[in-house]
Amino acid sequence: MLGKDRAANAPDRYLRQRILPEIGDSGQEKLRKSTILIAGCGAIGGLQAELLTRAGVGKIRIADRDFVDISNLHRQVLFNEQDAADRLAKVEAAARKLRSINSDVEIEPHAVDITPRNIESLIDGVDFVLDGTDNFETRYLINDACIKHGKTWVYGGVIATTGMVMLVEPRIGPCLRCLVPDPPSPGSIPTCDTSGVLNTAVGVVSSFQATAAIRALCGTVPDRRGLIHVDPWTLSFDFFKIERDSNCPCCIQDKFEFLESKRTSWTAALCGRNSVQVSPPTDLLIDMSALRARLDKAGRVEKTGLLLRFISEEGEMVIFPDGRAIIMETTDEAKARGLYARYIGT
Ligand SMILES: [Zn+2]
Repeated sequence: MLGKDRAANAPDRYLRQRILPEIGDSGQEKLRKSTILIAGCGAIGGLQAELLTRAGVGKIRIADRDFVDISNLHRQVLFNEQDAADRLAKVEAAARKLRSINSDVEIEPHAVDITPRNIESLIDGVDFVLDGTDNFETRYLINDACIKHGKTWVYGGVIATTGMVMLVEPRIGPCLRCLVPDPPSPGSIPTCDTSGVLNTAVGVVSSFQATAAIRALCGTVPDRRGLIHVDPWTLSFDFFKIERDSNCPCCIQDKFEFLESKRTSWTAALCGRNSVQVSPPTDLLIDMSALRARLDKAGRVEKTGLLLRFISEEGEMVIFPDGRAIIMETTDEAKARGLYARYIGT
């Protein structure tokens, strides 16, 4: 915290940004009055959050379902080795780091899985949404909710050395379903599990996304609309003009199929991790101290910030206050469901 010196330092804080004619004093003031959602704060979401915190966006809501793992650190800039050792919730570690970078910015962390049940409240009151997720299921959900509520959002994805970015302006430009009408089926596309990810590609994609946010929040109209495809390894950059699909089920026909499917996956294997997330079928708020007392009899329990870490003879799981658990060291969804039922309940 800057405390007493804060007022004295404040005028210079954004000087190099305010003297950019593209932003200026009026743009800086617009950023200060803005609220954004960063959906997922791992690799691309974490860097977006850092850039936009430094840029002085007034309020940043971050939502993420995961905790920090050592295998995240090569590309997820907000986290360190201690966060991974402590198995801190990503939003908790992120909020602490972001507040230390810029105490003027209000950081609102949500340790949740983004689902059809909570996406509309997560985007409520925000001026812009950034995709920091690693899966198409959530992106189609963001697309539905943002088109329905007229919120501009920016898609971004990175795999191996390549990345893609597209700005989605509801009713003005193409939406995600104009680009790809249906999500790719599971197993049909490479994931960071199978193909890896270059951290500089993360940097490029999140920088394009954060720039799209700064421009939109400053009220700047895009120079062109379409899909960026970039590969920093091979030095290639392509821009594809994308038109709205006149039959788009989402932005033309107003069918919000992903938002209206209130079913959410009961289990999901997590990208890049030998682990499975098990979610309760309805929203819960767990009494963590009661659960801790119960689990104490069955194994070792540690409280790490918001989360509980439970280690038994059958393995390790991390439990979230919303009732989700991540079962470690397995990709077997049936086994994960079984452990969840045994220790947390059905
Ligand atoms: Zn569309």
